[in-house]
Formats: sequence, structure tokens, C-alpha cells
Amino acid sequence: MLKIKNLHASIEEKEILKGINLEINPGEVHAIMGPNGSGKSTLSSVIAGKEEYEMTEGEIIFEGSDLSELDPEERAHKGVFLSFQYPVEIPGVSVTNFMKTAINAHRKANGLEDMPANEMLKLIREKSELLEIDRKFLSRSLNEGFSGGEKKRNEIFQMAMLEPKLSILDETDSGLDIDALKIVSNGVNKLRNENNAVLVITHYQRLLNYIVPDVVHVLIDGKIVKTGGKELAHELEERGYDWIKQESAV
Ligand code: ADP
Ligand code: MG
Ligand code: MG
Repeated sequence: MLKIKNLHASIEEKEILKGINLEINPGEVHAIMGPNGSGKSTLSSVIAGKEEYEMTEGEIIFEGSDLSELDPEERAHKGVFLSFQYPVEIPGVSVTNFMKTAINAHRKANGLEDMPANEMLKLIREKSELLEIDRKFLSRSLNEGFSGGEKKRNEIFQMAMLEPKLSILDETDSGLDIDALKIVSNGVNKLRNENNAVLVITHYQRLLNYIVPDVVHVLIDGKIVKTGGKELAHELEERGYDWIKQESAV
């Protein structure tokens, strides 16, 4: 599904990513862990196509086509979803109406007509029931006065509605509170299937107790220095990152 080859990227002339190789297949959950400042958010931003970052070398191939020439919106329409670390508030636009607009924009970009209203209602009902989201929430103004947990619930609802092929979840450095952690992980686990993939980016091991990854990569100073199974996350929790830095410095 996703194949990243020798990816180098810079911000303001400073090289942050120094040759990333990563391959994610349908049905897999990969985690990227690493110390603060190692380039985790840069990697998620570069995959999503944020313009502040300059890709200087390498390739990002998604379902056989090169993403590097596409803007963030076009990538989203192809099925790449990046959770927003700092969501925007849109007063006066409800969660539902925002979602309807987003769905129809996706459909239009893929050559489809607007979704018929009854089908849209059915989809909203189905997904909100799956995620145990109540009606009152759906009619609230987007992100206005939302708690941390509610912001995450809204993101997971967007993910459920848009059914992305690849979801990239970049946990904030401050970490999720326990409510948000449960909302995110329950949601992701319900939405996982053999046709989609998830890339979880986190500084902490804790989230990976709930969303159990198939593969764990350690990112240090812009390079993936170690890859392992889910047990690697536990080892990092116990031993920190220094031993890997030493191992990879040899
Ligand atoms: P992580 O998510 O692993 O904490 P980031 O990708 O946020 O790491 O940051 C990697 C490096 O890039 C850090 O040294 C950081 O200071 C730098 N960096 C990130 N964003 C910017 C920016 N907008 N301008 C300048 N430097 C940045
Ligand atoms: Mg950081
Ligand atoms: Mg980060």
C-alpha cells in the first residue's frame, strides 16, 4: 500500500529526515516511536504533503502511484488520512454538516456524484452507532468548546466516515489523557480491517497497549534505526532510547 524509499526531507534548509525506508501492507498497523525531535511529526507531515516541508530525495509510493507531486487535498482524496494535532474550530458548522461536505468533496474528486441524502443519513447513523457517538454531539459546532476527548471522538468519527486506506495518527507530545486514549484506541480497533492500514506515531508506549501494532519502528535523528514486533515497544518503555542510540552508532 505504502512504499517509502530513501526519503530525505528538510525544513528551512535543515535536513530532518535522512533516508527513511518504510513499507506498509494492507491490514497492518505500524508504529513509529522515537524521542522528541527525532522527526516523527515531520515524517507524518511529509507523507500527508504539508507544504512547509521539502522532500529533497527519495520516493513516496501509495498504491502504485507517486504521491510527491500531489497536494495534501489530493492525497486525502486518494485515501491518506492524517489526524489533526491541532484541530480548527468552525463556529456555526455542525459536526454532521462538516462531514457531509467532506464526504461529497472526496466523492467529487473521485468522479462521483454527491451521496444521496438518505444514504448519507444511513452512513452517519451506522458509524455513530459503531463508535457510540450520541446525536447531540453530531449537531454541535465543529470543535467549539470541545474537550480533548471530544476532539479525538470527532477525528475518529471523520476517519470512520471517510474510510481512508491509510490513517496516520500522530499523537501530540503531551500525550492523550485516559479518556481520549480509550476513544481513539476503541475507534481505531473497530475500524481496522484487512483492506486498510494504520500508522501510529507516538513518543509513548502507552497507546500501543491499546492499539497493538504488527510492526514497531524506532526513529532517531531522522533515520529508522531499529524495527521489530510489538515487544520492541515494551522494551523501549523499560529501557528508554539510549541503548538503541548506542547500538546504532556503532
Ligand atoms: P518529533 O515529532 O519526533 O518530536 P519533529 O518532526 O516535530 O519531531 O521535529 C524534528 C526536528 O525538526 C526538530 O529538531 C525540530 O526542531 C525541527 N522542526 C520541526 N518543525 C520545524 C519548523 N517548523 N521549523 C524549524 N524546525 C522545525
Ligand atoms: Mg516533537
Ligand atoms: Mg511530533
